[in-house]
Amino acid sequence: MNFYDYVRNIQNFPKAGINFKDISPLLADKHALANCLSELVVLVGSQKIDKVAAIESRGFYFGTLLAHKLEAGFVPIRKPGKLPFKTIKEPYELEYGIDVLEIHEDAIEEGDRILLHDDVLATGGTARAACNLIERLGGKIVQCNFILELEFLYGIKKLQDHSVCSFLKF
Ligand code: 5GP
Repeated sequence: MNFYDYVRNIQNFPKAGINFKDISPLLADKHALANCLSELVVLVGSQKIDKVAAIESRGFYFGTLLAHKLEAGFVPIRKPGKLPFKTIKEPYELEYGIDVLEIHEDAIEEGDRILLHDDVLATGGTARAACNLIERLGGKIVQCNFILELEFLYGIKKLQDHSVCSFLKF
């Protein structure tokens, strides 16, 4: 199976000049979905994971599946105002302006071994902010795990203090 065939390019989405990698075909095919999940589990190897933390919203697709496979809990990291309980917030820079991620303040216990998952690593700003939230709560990030990495954007530079594993690379 060539997984790259299940990622399609959408020109000018969400705005002009962006070539968006759409993983919908990979999600829609039962064999591609199952095999991609298995490959993400292989990236983690035998490392013990207490919780998978995943970033809204596309990180949730495989985040909960990964948590189930790894016999771990699941922690959502969301955009502002979406989580109902008390949160801590982490701002991060976008190309134009600032965005914020939030996590429930009781979602992670001191020393929890965390797998951070998202669909795509681009410039790395989103994943960096998520790592900061996890570490502020005392979590230990075992691996940052992505389906797809846009290597030409060098997002890995923002995650230099962590182990970064991506299944597909562009
Ligand atoms: P970054 O902060 O690394 O620049 O952007 C990563 C975030 O934006 C991820 O949460 C990811 O879902 C989203 N993202 C950025 N570019 C793409 C893309 O080409 N395809 C998809 N599916 N998501 C993207």
